[in-house]
Amino acid sequence: MKILVLNSGSSSVKYRLFNGTDTLAKGLIERIGESGGDAGDHEAALQQVMAAVDLDGLGAVGHRVVHGGSEFGRATVIDDELFAVIEGLVPLAPLHNPAALSGIAVARKLLPDVPQVAVFDTAFHQTIPPDGVAYAIDASLAKRWQIRRYGFHGTSHAYVARKTAELLGLPADRARVITLHLGNGASACAVSGGRSVATSMGMSPQSGLVMGTRSGDVDPTVIFHLHRVAGLPIEEIERSLTRFAGLQGLAGENDMRTVQQHRADGDPAATLAFDVYCRRIKEYVGTYLAVLGGADAIVFTAGVGENSPEVRAASLAGLAELGITIDAARNERSERIISPEGARVRVCVVPTDEELEIAQQVTAELQK
Ligand code: AMP
Repeated sequence: MKILVLNSGSSSVKYRLFNGTDTLAKGLIERIGESGGDAGDHEAALQQVMAAVDLDGLGAVGHRVVHGGSEFGRATVIDDELFAVIEGLVPLAPLHNPAALSGIAVARKLLPDVPQVAVFDTAFHQTIPPDGVAYAIDASLAKRWQIRRYGFHGTSHAYVARKTAELLGLPADRARVITLHLGNGASACAVSGGRSVATSMGMSPQSGLVMGTRSGDVDPTVIFHLHRVAGLPIEEIERSLTRFAGLQGLAGENDMRTVQQHRADGDPAATLAFDVYCRRIKEYVGTYLAVLGGADAIVFTAGVGENSPEVRAASLAGLAELGITIDAARNERSERIISPEGARVRVCVVPTDEELEIAQQVTAELQK
């Protein structure tokens, strides 16, 4: 079946047209609404997409939606009711859901006879048990304001955990896999028998691992302190922790390649940034080994995970007692399996493919 996958951001639309697992076309419309940008608005952007690809025989459009709240544990066909539910979730994902909604609205208008399916970044994590999603805060506040862990990058964690189990010949219903999605955004996930049981992002994609420009875990008192003592308005603190934190905050650079270059040149700030980044990964690996009661595999994916032998080696250094080691030569070549022969815990590098996973979930949903 032919599936068009759309990933609508606030100022960009990424698209990929599939026939089964084959990619027929793909592209990116950028700087929407900016002067000199590729398109004036989302409608113009989608019209460009539709002019660029052959939509003859299109079976469905799959939309990446960041936040599905507590409602959605799977891909879901979009109707007016679902559209309203996604709108209702905007307060939980003010930076992400509005863009997806404009993409959906325009696609429904331009392709009224084609089924539209929402695939949520949060859906895979709906299997995390209650003690893994509740924050220990005033329960009445949490209930009233939908405050809990949701988790993100779900399509990537689901895809990579499944591919890893296939690669290693692990039984799909019992494999214990720790997935490390290390891109601009970064998150870790503990996957047991193909189901997410713990993840590092929380109510928003802000918590957990150190990211390109996001802090990952910080004591919430940092925010009170910056507000009360430093006198910064809440909006500025949010900007600082989401745009000027992480690698950017520590090293003045959000791109891991540059951080590694500066570290190699002896820059102490870049060295600290790299060390904090890798230590945080190791801390989560330890946590998830405990959550899973041991692991069959640890897998690295996304820009940093797939391409940085340095980060992989530093993140898992010193864990031989736990059965976790890396073969230096295999790691340097970014082979699929980078642990030595006979290792108790296999360490892998598996490229993620969120669009393919979306297309496959859409197909599965429509064939249900
Ligand atoms: P993504 O969001 O998955 O596209 O990942 C983007 C991140 O991957 C950026 O921080 C890049 O610096 C990082 N990245 C890409 N290639 C490399 C590489 N060869 N070494 C280290 N980091 C890389």
